Amino acid sequence: MFWADVVAKELKKRKLSLEWVDDMKTPSGRVHVGALRGVVIHDLVFKALKDAGVKTKYTYIFDNHDPMDSLPVYLPKEKFEKYLGMPLYKIPSPELGFDNYAQFYAEEFMSVFNAIGCHPEIIWATDLYLSRKMNSLIKVCLDKTDIIRKIYEEVYKKKISSDWYPFQAYCPNCGKVSTTKVYKWDGEFVYFKCTVNGLGWTKGCGYDGKVSPLSNKKGINGKLPWKVEWACKWKAVGVTVEGAGKDHMSRGGSHDIASLICKRVINYEVPYPLPYEFFLIEGKKMSSSKGLGSSAKEMLKILPSEILRFLMVKTRINQAINFDPAGDTIPKLFDDYQLAGQEYFKKGQRDKDLARIFELSQVDKIESLPKIRFMTLAQWVQMPNLQNKIREEGLEEWAKYARIWLDRYASESVKFEIQKKIPKEVKILNKKQKAFLKKVAEELTKDWNAEEFQKKLYDWAKELDLSSEKAFQALYIPLIGKDHGPKAGWLILEYKEFVQKRFQDVSFVQS
Ligand SMILES: [Zn+2]
Repeated sequence: MFWADVVAKELKKRKLSLEWVDDMKTPSGRVHVGALRGVVIHDLVFKALKDAGVKTKYTYIFDNHDPMDSLPVYLPKEKFEKYLGMPLYKIPSPELGFDNYAQFYAEEFMSVFNAIGCHPEIIWATDLYLSRKMNSLIKVCLDKTDIIRKIYEEVYKKKISSDWYPFQAYCPNCGKVSTTKVYKWDGEFVYFKCTVNGLGWTKGCGYDGKVSPLSNKKGINGKLPWKVEWACKWKAVGVTVEGAGKDHMSRGGSHDIASLICKRVINYEVPYPLPYEFFLIEGKKMSSSKGLGSSAKEMLKILPSEILRFLMVKTRINQAINFDPAGDTIPKLFDDYQLAGQEYFKKGQRDKDLARIFELSQVDKIESLPKIRFMTLAQWVQMPNLQNKIREEGLEEWAKYARIWLDRYASESVKFEIQKKIPKEVKILNKKQKAFLKKVAEELTKDWNAEEFQKKLYDWAKELDLSSEKAFQALYIPLIGKDHGPKAGWLILEYKEFVQKRFQDVSFVQS
């Protein structure tokens, strides 16, 4: 059984009135493709729950109130450096048309996950705070600061200072949050200092004062540290299922802290966890602020949405996805997708898991599947005479990606170009090979279908006592200047008159 269906089956036994699936992300810059894996994994559980007849809901929290703690390399330093340490929603958008920085990057990411068929309901963390659903939890956490300190000490095995409090106030003077340090809680106010030199990467203003940690109509005065906040958000929203990448889920990681906060501080059942492995690009884990070429948005330029989704659906959650677009990775992915599709459309005995993977990889309704292999299509797009055929057979969408693959990632051996003049390489052809070309040229006066013609090429080579390797070398060199290429039968018939003349000419060239 497909893993998400196994999870849904297990969850169904709990008989909760609602299974609330949630995932989240800080929109601190262009979102790396790795973060898409989480969105898809939660979407799969959500859809499997629905299919199992369980009432369910799927939300996605954008932590737009988290501080900007580093500057993405693609943003102008002189314009954005001054915002370091400020909440993302208070920083201007890098482009016009968006309310703020967080919204700009969140919407870019949202457009990608919507494109691959994930439509969670969006919750902005600022709205959650402004709804005042966090207030009672903030108060409990501050009242039980000593328990939270002990949890940190237990998990991190180091002493936590007795003047540390689980709250980060917004400095009313400079607007930063990373620089403030709360040193007292009196049940109504937190007392804090905005430290000037406490951090290496941004300076505070030295302000010393007090503020209510609770949000009210006028706005938000600060936030919980995110590990504590993670647990409190679960309770405030009502989350019952939430996973995270293995970095958060490993022993001693942030999930351990959040779980202990649930148990010992806020009395809430830890949501069903879904630990999953990384999504690596060329073996590397990328962060949101680095990695120019591997943002979620870039991925949709090289793969159609159903194939990008398929890549994540087909890989078990405890296995890393290591995507390296070079070489044959992309054609192989298309092949795998077609194989899964064949199982889905097959009548009678079939591989149920593969069929389910195909079903869950669809972005909207399930359409028929192109029958042509991607690699063949990559050859077709290089043959000018085949462009009409591509249109007639409705292959334009995949053809677009085949062209991109050829342009960016295909090895030179896959690319070919019909040579306008006789290539100089023909001088290596021997007498037998030339006799073979003469024979083929004669046969081209007849009508052929490509399949039959391809078979005949082998027969004619045999008749001349020519190995098939030597025979095909003779066919390719005069046309494309290389000793290998796309399926010869099809290539030759596409350019019949041209090829006939070229083969005749070459067969007379002196060695
Ligand atoms: Zn300040």
